[in-house]
Amino acid sequence: MSLFTQSAAWVTTEHRIYADMTRRFLQDNMVPHTERWYDQGHIDREFWNLAGEAGIMGAAVPEAYGGAGADMSFEAVTLYEQGFAGDVSWGYAIQSIVMHYIVAYGNEEQKQAWLPKLVDGTYVGAIAMTEPGAGSDLQAIRTTATVDGDEYVINGSKTFITNGQQADLVIVVCKTDPSAGAKGTSLLVVEVDKVEGFERGRNLKKMGMKGNDTSELFFTDVRVPSTSLLGDVAGQGFYQLMNQLTWERLIVGVCGIGCADFGLQETIRYTQERKAFGKAVFDFQNTRFKLAEAKTKLEVTRAFICDAIAQADAGTLDAATASMVKYWSSEIQHAVLDECVQLHGGYGYMMEYPITRLYADARVQKIYAGTNEIMKELISRSL
Ligand SMILES: Cc1cc2nc3c(=O)[nH]c(=O)nc-3n(C[C@H](O)[C@H](O)[C@H](O)COP(=O)(O)OP(=O)(O)OC[C@H]3O[C@@H](n4cnc5c(N)ncnc54)[C@H](O)[C@@H]3O)c2cc1C
Repeated sequence: MSLFTQSAAWVTTEHRIYADMTRRFLQDNMVPHTERWYDQGHIDREFWNLAGEAGIMGAAVPEAYGGAGADMSFEAVTLYEQGFAGDVSWGYAIQSIVMHYIVAYGNEEQKQAWLPKLVDGTYVGAIAMTEPGAGSDLQAIRTTATVDGDEYVINGSKTFITNGQQADLVIVVCKTDPSAGAKGTSLLVVEVDKVEGFERGRNLKKMGMKGNDTSELFFTDVRVPSTSLLGDVAGQGFYQLMNQLTWERLIVGVCGIGCADFGLQETIRYTQERKAFGKAVFDFQNTRFKLAEAKTKLEVTRAFICDAIAQADAGTLDAATASMVKYWSSEIQHAVLDECVQLHGGYGYMMEYPITRLYADARVQKIYAGTNEIMKELISRSL
């Protein structure tokens, strides 16, 4: 199975070679550690460096800043392959998102300073939007960044931040002008080891994605130079978020279909081996019909995703389409994996079977990167 449909015009031999290379790397360096990462609540820090050395991060970052200068579809390949490897502990989706904020809005100095480190795994990235009192309603955030000479002083707290325990660089969504509504929001880059007043809270206990560190972050009079602002002037944050969230929403779908493909493959194998009433579970018509339905749902979703990847590469992926991808693919991922659990019987409820982990991991896909209710709001605005 792969990310590619038969007819996706953008798929080249290079994509297939890159996908094979990434799959081999993840099989050798990720899959053997999945259960341990799940138990310890985070991946090994060295994995980021290994992934950087293997060249599977930041494919679409320009070569001048350490990337491969390829297009976004290559980063989608990495994320699909991660899903298909059956492990969502590695927070590469967020790393990719962080890199592309800097590619899009960083000045030359910022790009030189941060991108090579994110591409080679020297830095782990995070983006901190959500607060205890503001998730869907991002305009309600209360973290402030006030100007003091040539510095910003950041105060506030964030929660549910992916890569929160390991992050070296955090893009913090702040109010630089609380009286200006959306136009008073800005993005500040904080290199956490270079500041005082930054603290990590708990590594939060979750229903799934247990091998990824998701944390509270606290900022108390954190001083960063004014050169930490992303973009030329303050107040662009909301516009920057809205533009970059299309990529975030697309890759939720990309990684999700990878997970669902893996779940389906595991379920086909399992039902062929498991016997009931003297025959393989696969041989019941109900099983084959359920698997046929799942396969069809995934192929339809794959076609939609491949089309959206082409749009992302062309720079034409709009907010409504990205929202449709996120909403649709996360619903399909969840529905398919639910059927896969059912076809495993009681073993589908036991953590030693990959399907159980995949199912628990899938639930959050309908919640983060904007809940599916918010996706429908955004889609409905385009009607
Ligand atoms: C595992 C995990 C990782 C995450 N990673 C990050 C991260 O790296 N960075 C980050 O900033 N955030 C992250 N988040 C936060 C995530 O994006 C938010 O949880 C999400 O946006 C929802 O916000 P909320 O939890 O405050 O829910 P709320 O906004 O309180 O929503 C509660 C319910 O109300 C519904 N609702 C709210 N507004 C409306 C509306 N207008 N119309 C209809 N229904 C509505 C929602 O859909 C939801 O069902 C992560 C969350 C999780 C669980």
